Amino acid sequence: MPFDYDLFVIGGGSGGVRAARVAAATGAKVALAEEFRMGGTCVIRGCVPKKLMVFASTYAEGMEDAQEYGWDVKVGPFNWGKFRTKLHAELDRLEGVYRKLLGNSDVTIYDARATLKDAHTITLSTGEEVSAKHILVATGGHPTKPDIAGAELAITSNEIFSLEEMPKKILIVGGGYIASEFAGILNGLGVEVTQFYRGAQILRGFDDEARGLIADGMIEKGVNLHLGTNIVEMRAEGNGIYVKATNGDEHVFDQVMFATGRHANTDGLGLEDIGVKLGRGGEILVDDYSQTDVPSIYAVGDVTNRVNLTPVAIREGMAFVETVFKGNPTKPDHDLIPSAVFTQPEFGTIGLTEEQAREQEPIEVYCTSFKPMNHAFAGRADRVLMKLIVSQANRKVLGCHIVADHAGELIQMVGIAVKMGATKEDFDRTVAVHPTISEELVTMKEPVRRA
Ligand code: NDP
Repeated sequence: MPFDYDLFVIGGGSGGVRAARVAAATGAKVALAEEFRMGGTCVIRGCVPKKLMVFASTYAEGMEDAQEYGWDVKVGPFNWGKFRTKLHAELDRLEGVYRKLLGNSDVTIYDARATLKDAHTITLSTGEEVSAKHILVATGGHPTKPDIAGAELAITSNEIFSLEEMPKKILIVGGGYIASEFAGILNGLGVEVTQFYRGAQILRGFDDEARGLIADGMIEKGVNLHLGTNIVEMRAEGNGIYVKATNGDEHVFDQVMFATGRHANTDGLGLEDIGVKLGRGGEILVDDYSQTDVPSIYAVGDVTNRVNLTPVAIREGMAFVETVFKGNPTKPDHDLIPSAVFTQPEFGTIGLTEEQAREQEPIEVYCTSFKPMNHAFAGRADRVLMKLIVSQANRKVLGCHIVADHAGELIQMVGIAVKMGATKEDFDRTVAVHPTISEELVTMKEPVRRA
């Protein structure tokens, strides 16, 4: 064989691991290099530990509600040390599972940093050099901080899972997924949370009505959300961090966390030297089949900055294997991707926002917002939102936006119908499940507006 491997994957995250396993199952000789921990951002410092922290953060509210339902329970303090130990044990277990899956698939693992020497040669930090017919770059991304004085004092989502102590007061900067999710998590764990977002409303790009309800809900639960606000000055003060805001406010926080975006892990890989083109943010530019400008080199996942979600990286990895190892050219489908933002309240969404749909064609908007019975009984102000965007021309549901408990679970199911091209009348033909929150999705009779 002219090459050591048929496929060499750089990066042991969701996309890389799946591609390596599926390629190996075709009989290909596959190796994978990971410089940090197997599992990547999702498993080690993203989705998984984040979701476990979401679960942890909801118990205080749950116990308060339990009192309203007649239970004699008291909310004691949250023991971060106990939770963190358990959290990391779980991450260790999952990392082991990933390793085992690769091993069982006969994928050779290199616990090393890999860089590219040429279109078919990989240099490893161990000093070894290996060759491969195809190379898949799946190195993911990393959180980035704004270039301001004092930024080195702040943490990012990378560090949040390993803090020695929970801060008493934290400032979270940003208005995207990570900032808004952690504002809710830390608030739920009893931390005094201030969030600065430079724009007019958090979660830019999502449906405006949903964004408004989420922000209201976060404020109602205790997050000090400051819109149109950023940091102008930041420095160490005592054991804390002094921050001056654009609105003139001055505070000292125990921690500042920047959740101001993520960038592709392409630095120092040698990509540009061998002719792989990068975009302005450092992401690898690929065609519809995830192929770079160097024909033997492909890239999937966050390193390509297409749709930066774990299940999408997995799909891209599988489409790559289908194309390259199964002789069946397959484009990953980036259309109508359901997703969830684990804010408190939670958000599930698929398809066009009302604002996007209006630009595209005449629409009807079906929408309802109400206090669900579980929260109303407990005396909570929480409201849910159920919203459908419908094409006037062909009646198809173009978008669905849900703000409610378990909205992530709900949108997964709605996503099937929307992906199948369901019309509003298909929704209406479906009998309601009573009493549930989601029955409103099939009982909204009149549009609230046409646009
Ligand atoms: P986002 O790009 O979603 O948000 C970044 C935020 O930081 C925006 O609000 C942006 O403001 C703001 N910002 C950027 N630069 C600055 C600056 N210099 N000063 C102040 N604010 C700034 O990134 P995240 O880090 O939140 O998340 C990264 C990606 O990870 C997401 O896009 C998503 O794909 C993925 N992710 C998905 C999750 C999920 O599925 N539940 C959970 C977590 C992450 P502006 O809006 O004005 O640009």
